[in-house]
Amino acid sequence: MSNPYIEEAEEAILHTYNRYQIVLDRGEGVHLYDVNGKEYLDFAAGIAVQSLGYNNKEYTQALKDQIDKLTHISNLYYSVPMAEAAEKVKKASRLEKVFFTNSGTEAIEGALKVARKYSYAKYGEDRYEIVAMNHSFHGRSLGALSVTGNEKYRKPFEPLIGGVRFADYNDLESVKSQVNEKTCAIILETVQGEGGIYPATEEFLKGVKALCEEKDLILILDEIQCGMGRTGYMFAWQEYGVEPDVMTCAKALGCGVPVGAFVLGKKVADASLAPGDHGTTYGGNPFVCAAVSKVFDLYEKEQIVDHVKKVGGYLEQKLNALVEKYDFLKERRGKGLIQGLEVEGRPIGEIVNRGLEEGLIIITAGSNVLRFVPPLVVTEADVDEMIAKLEKCF
Ligand SMILES: *Cc1c(COP(=O)(O)O)cnc(C)c1O
Repeated sequence: MSNPYIEEAEEAILHTYNRYQIVLDRGEGVHLYDVNGKEYLDFAAGIAVQSLGYNNKEYTQALKDQIDKLTHISNLYYSVPMAEAAEKVKKASRLEKVFFTNSGTEAIEGALKVARKYSYAKYGEDRYEIVAMNHSFHGRSLGALSVTGNEKYRKPFEPLIGGVRFADYNDLESVKSQVNEKTCAIILETVQGEGGIYPATEEFLKGVKALCEEKDLILILDEIQCGMGRTGYMFAWQEYGVEPDVMTCAKALGCGVPVGAFVLGKKVADASLAPGDHGTTYGGNPFVCAAVSKVFDLYEKEQIVDHVKKVGGYLEQKLNALVEKYDFLKERRGKGLIQGLEVEGRPIGEIVNRGLEEGLIIITAGSNVLRFVPPLVVTEADVDEMIAKLEKCF
């Protein structure tokens, strides 16, 4: 089944991904189409990015309009889209200050710098350690890799940045045991994504928050995958009532244009990064900010978050039924429209490939979890169709 486009790509693209053997051409709603015109029901959304579905007309029109006006000016000047996008992030998060980046990993870099700078300015040089979680994923740049709890991703690139200790997720005692007088921050995903779809327990998240308050540590919540409505809350931490000192966003923030952000709460907003401490050429340019701004408008207009609560509950119910029905499905985990099915004793790669044959796109998380992160506009009928296709793969 060789395909000339695939051969051409493999000739020229550095082989860092074992890609699925399809060439995608266009998208419409929750469907993708390959170059042969075959239709796929998409439950991956470009890895939790395309929340509004493909080819949302209002969204694409806003991008076209902005392209005709202005795409890039650098951060030496102001632009209207940047002001509007930042205002909307602030309003949705009720945090204080926004810094736009080009990706998730860069948002993590910024968050780590905020934590180090806050501590340096207040306590001096010897308080720089960061506690991160086992099985976490925060990105591929060296700083983000330093706090990513996955040996396979880290090992070939060591030494990474120093002063990082790992604790077990959802285990407060483990976190406490890694905190000492040198600690400046704790970083975790509100729902672990890549690591296998593990939501934080309320007890854990509240415990970590209390620990941060007690010791004046910076709590960094990585909402890059679980944020932007995916759990049925605009940001996953809002369900817990646990406000981060720094939140990182990306993926669905721009619904398909490369943009991320780190967002600062009261404690650090005016007590960390100052002029000259951080920068980016592209970050937050008028083009991507026009996208961000329109994304927030459409979330409101289409009541995306309420919709996720409803359809997410339905998906949860259907996945639970599968766990009941099939012995090799061990557990369902997740919240809203970020769900995982843990598979035992069957190669998940085969299930995913069978899915493609059936016209279903799903992805994996870790080595044994099927991950469901569809566009947030999916309907209950789409869920039914997905389940029917998935059962054929089983
Ligand atoms: C995807 C992801 C990142 C990295 O984002 P990139 O845009 O790929 O750099 C960081 N943290 C989490 C939780 C993610 O899911």
